[in-house]
Amino acid sequence: MQLPREVLIGQNVAPLVGKTLNRLGVHGRALVITGPKVREVAAVTIVKSLEEANFATSIFITEGATTAHVQEVENEIHRFNPDIVVGLGGGKDIDVAKLSSMNTSKQFLSVPTAASHDGIASPLVSVKGLNKPYSYVAHAPIAIVADTSIIGRSPYRLIASGCGDIVAKYTAVRDWKLAHRIKNEYYGDYAAELALMSSRLVMKNANSIRTVSDSGVRTLVEALISCGVAMSIAGTSRPCSGAEHLFSHYLTTIAPRPALHGEQCGVGTILCAYLHGTNWQLIKDVLSRIGAPTTANDLGIAKEYILDALTKAHTIRPERYTILGESGLTREAAERVATVTGVI
Ligand SMILES: [Zn+2]
Repeated sequence: MQLPREVLIGQNVAPLVGKTLNRLGVHGRALVITGPKVREVAAVTIVKSLEEANFATSIFITEGATTAHVQEVENEIHRFNPDIVVGLGGGKDIDVAKLSSMNTSKQFLSVPTAASHDGIASPLVSVKGLNKPYSYVAHAPIAIVADTSIIGRSPYRLIASGCGDIVAKYTAVRDWKLAHRIKNEYYGDYAAELALMSSRLVMKNANSIRTVSDSGVRTLVEALISCGVAMSIAGTSRPCSGAEHLFSHYLTTIAPRPALHGEQCGVGTILCAYLHGTNWQLIKDVLSRIGAPTTANDLGIAKEYILDALTKAHTIRPERYTILGESGLTREAAERVATVTGVI
C-alpha cells in the first residue's frame, strides 16, 4: 500500500512546496513538469518556493500525455538528475510526472492546479499510446500540495468534471461488490466505504461546489484525494472505477470529440445506477445542480456513440466484471436505459 506522506490542502498553500519537501527530507535538485496551459503565476510561485528551500530548480514543459511525451520527460530526468519530480498542473501533467518519475525511480510531488479527476492523488496513471484506454497502477505521490485558491480559479468546467468523477464511485463500488459476489474478486470494505463517503459528501455539498465557495472546492479536493487513497489501499482502481468508467473510456476512444473524463463518467453513472436498480434520479439531480452534463446533448456526443459505448464498453477491459456483464447490453436494452434516464 503506497500512501502520500503529507497532504496540504487550503488557500495559499502553494508557497509551502519547498518547505514541505525539506520537512520530508528531500533536498537538492527539483524538476518541475508542467503543461503549456498552466498559468504562469502558479509556476512562478512553485519555483520561488523551491528556490527559497535551496533547490536547484528546472522547469520542463510537456505538451501532452502520450508515451512519447513521457519518454521526453524521462530523458530530461536523466539529464537533470533531480532529487524530486514535481508534477504541476491538471491531470495530464501530473500523469506524465507520475509515470516518468516511476520509470526513472524518482519520487514525485503532486501539485494540482485543477480538480478535474482523481488522478491528482492516486497511484494510477493514464497515458495515450500504451494500448490501455484505462488507468493502471504506477506509484503514489510522496506528498500532495493542493492550493484551493489556485484550483478555485480554474475553469468551472474542470470542477464540474471532477464532481462527475467522484459521483461515479456510487456505481463503481456497486460493481466491485457485484464482482466479489459473482467472481469471488477481492473486495475491501474500508476502501469501498472511503470512496462511497467521498461521493456522498460531494453530493451533499453540490450547492456550495456550484458557487465555487472555498468550502465547496475543499470538499471536492478532499474527495479526489480520498479516492486516490482508497485506490492505494485497495491496490486497484476498483473502488473508484466501474462500468461508468468503462463507458467513459470507450467514448473517449470512439467519439470524434469526446467530453472530459469526469463529465462522461457522470453521465455513465446515471446509466449504470439505472442498471443497478438504484436511485439514478438522485445522480441526475446532483449533476444538474452542480452544472455537470447529464445528457448526450450536454456532452456534445451523438446518440449513436452513447449506444455503442453501452453495448461495447465491457470489451475494453474484459477482466473487470461489472453490471454490463460479460456480453454487454443488447442494443434494445441500451436504447431503453438511455431513453428512460433521459440521456438520449
Ligand atoms: Zn475517473
